[in-house]
Amino acid sequence: MIKKLIRKILGTKDKSVRDTSTPVVLGPDAHGIDPRLLSNNAVRVTSTLQEAGFEAFVVGGAVRDLLLGVKPKDFDIATNATPEQVKRLFRRAFIIGKRFQIVHVMFGQDLLEVTTFRGTTLDNAPKDEHGRVLRDNTFGSQAEDAVRRDFTINAMYYNPANEQVLDYHGGVEDIRARTLRIIGQPEARYREDPVRMLRVVRFAAKLKFTIEPATGAPIAIMAPLINNVPAARVFDEMLKLLMSGQALACLQQLRKEGLHHGLLPLLDVVLEQPLGVKFVTLALDSTDARIHAGKTVSPGFLFASLLWHQVLEKWTAYRAAGEQTIPALHLAADDVLDSQTEKLALQRKIGSDMRDIWSMQPRFERRTGKSPHKLLEHLRFRAGYDFLLLRCASGEIDAEIGEWWTAFYEGDEATREDLIATANQPAAAGGAKRKRGPRRGPRKGTGDGATGGVDAGHGGDGGAD
Ligand code: ATP
Ligand code: MG
Repeated sequence: MIKKLIRKILGTKDKSVRDTSTPVVLGPDAHGIDPRLLSNNAVRVTSTLQEAGFEAFVVGGAVRDLLLGVKPKDFDIATNATPEQVKRLFRRAFIIGKRFQIVHVMFGQDLLEVTTFRGTTLDNAPKDEHGRVLRDNTFGSQAEDAVRRDFTINAMYYNPANEQVLDYHGGVEDIRARTLRIIGQPEARYREDPVRMLRVVRFAAKLKFTIEPATGAPIAIMAPLINNVPAARVFDEMLKLLMSGQALACLQQLRKEGLHHGLLPLLDVVLEQPLGVKFVTLALDSTDARIHAGKTVSPGFLFASLLWHQVLEKWTAYRAAGEQTIPALHLAADDVLDSQTEKLALQRKIGSDMRDIWSMQPRFERRTGKSPHKLLEHLRFRAGYDFLLLRCASGEIDAEIGEWWTAFYEGDEATREDLIATANQPAAAGGAKRKRGPRRGPRKGTGDGATGGVDAGHGGDGGAD
């Protein structure tokens, strides 16, 4: 009311007195969204809800992407129907979530998240001692729901039926100016949910948007609050960050915002180890290239890459202390995985994929007898081989070994026998050879692994989850 009055008196459109209780409504000519970028299932969900008498809109990242002319990778729907009411309208619908209840509506493999408009009364919501909201299932109006969203560009609603965009917080303007602006008072919003700081970094890097100064200012000071967030949530957000197609830019931005330090042990390791920088850069470039090419990326491969140089360091130390090569590698892997699980909640499957990839590495050194054939049959051979190529491309080991394995992998039986007969044996049998000499130029095989030219999913484990 008061804000409205001030605006009337001043006749101003100043953002600080923006009226956020009623939306700016934009028709197709004003927003320019191409309806062909919408998924049929998103329209199916909104129209089913609307036919049952509810309001329903595409919301969040999908509207942002539609306005940017990008095909959204998934669609979230917001409605005034309660989760129970939504569930009743669809054959395969499941209520999930504790902190925020949402409904997953499935059509075949396609999953849509349907959320009921949230209320703004967070005062009574249960919080932890730092002010982080623990549970919040109070429903509200669309205007209240918009206030609760993180950024202005993520708080717009699109109704496929009349092709209108409802914009409560100047999101369209911010999209045009390529500005990332948090809704409300930044400190308060980060306190309620510190993960939003990671989201600032992800969206700024992924969309190449500028962080509005007031949105960015508190992050360096408030970064430690992320320590209180359950590890599984941080992990989910980190995975989104690493799989955004701009992984390297995101990690650099995390560092710039002071978010990496003491926050996730993983990032300390990744961003502050000079030896691993080349390897990690190649691994992340390869991941980004795969995402852009629409290929799957396995989290196990990704995390195995990010932590490889930490494993290498410990592996070397254990061997220096007298352990045999293979047990030393297992000990190193245990150490690294243990130190990461507490904060990062590495899921068991991911941890075991990482271990598989790492422990395959010394086996690539054995190129006599039946060993190479046996390794080829390993369930995760492809991931281990791609990983080997990254090690070659980064100069950690001689490119020759990668070339040999490419020839062996691609060759017929006669070629394979030939290769085994002429294999260069490592100087110390079974030892991990760490040649640090000048790297020979990029060659077929080695370069491919580093740029994502390798076609099969890493390890053929069927993708991201
Ligand atoms: P992406 O395209 O990467 O999925 P997105 O914006 O859709 O981006 P999601 O994590 O899928 O991101 O979240 C969907 C929407 O839910 C967001 O656009 C935002 O409106 C809201 N949202 C998600 N997380 C938060 C949060 N921590 N605080 C406030 N709003 C959030
Ligand atoms: Mg999304």
